[in-house]
Amino acid sequence: HGSLATIEIPEASGVQAVMRRLSGATRDMVSQNRDLESELRKSTEEITTLQQRLEQARRDALTDGLTGIGNRRCFDLALAEHGARAATGHAELCLILIDIDHFKRFNDAYGHRIGDQVLRVVGMKLKEIAQPNDTPARYGGEEFALLTLNTRFEAAMERADSLRNALASNVLRNKQTGDNYGQVTVSMGVARFRPTDSLESFVQRADTALYQAKREGRNRVISEAA
Ligand code: GH3
Ligand code: MG
Ligand code: MG
Repeated sequence: HGSLATIEIPEASGVQAVMRRLSGATRDMVSQNRDLESELRKSTEEITTLQQRLEQARRDALTDGLTGIGNRRCFDLALAEHGARAATGHAELCLILIDIDHFKRFNDAYGHRIGDQVLRVVGMKLKEIAQPNDTPARYGGEEFALLTLNTRFEAAMERADSLRNALASNVLRNKQTGDNYGQVTVSMGVARFRPTDSLESFVQRADTALYQAKREGRNRVISEAA
């Protein structure tokens, strides 16, 4: 046998250089990690913000801008959803259609802006009489609707009459100017979903009853034909 194999032992300064590189690399990783964490936090915040905006956009899409209650889209969605359950006998559904009396006349007398205030008042009163399972909505123009879920027809009729009465027993007054706009009344038609109904036939019966309320002199609640 000849000479022993030689093992290269790096100089002390070489070890230090390696160590320096290693700890330098560790520092880099720690700082990269910190950057990643902060980016992740930022992304999470952005996602939360986007989710909130999406939720707000969804609410806006279903809200009537003037009155703050549900809009026609909201009504249509609720009608489709509850109507499907009512059709299978899993829910009781009633519809109150509401139309302001002689509103054209009111607009002509006091102006469109005051008319808008009246729409706000009617929307507010409708919201006030609505129960947790109800869907109050502005159906369009000067027409409103209340869908009542799992409420007896008689109770829905009473709810309609309490709205009628709340409006008819007050005069509208402008708080700032003290101007008096007199009484604003509404007419209503009420229908109950039947097993044989389509969404259209259901709404149609409430509309027919509403039309009858107008014909019979307004400021009244008429139940659908039996
Ligand atoms: P009726 O008792 O038969 O319901 O009479 P009416 O005058 O209320 O009914 P008509 O359908 O002839 O007129 C509805 C009026 O509602 C006309 C329209 O100018 C008014 N209207 C609809 N939408 C709005 C709105 O957003 N703001 C205001 N100020 N008026 C509106
Ligand atoms: Mg109308
Ligand atoms: Mg009207």
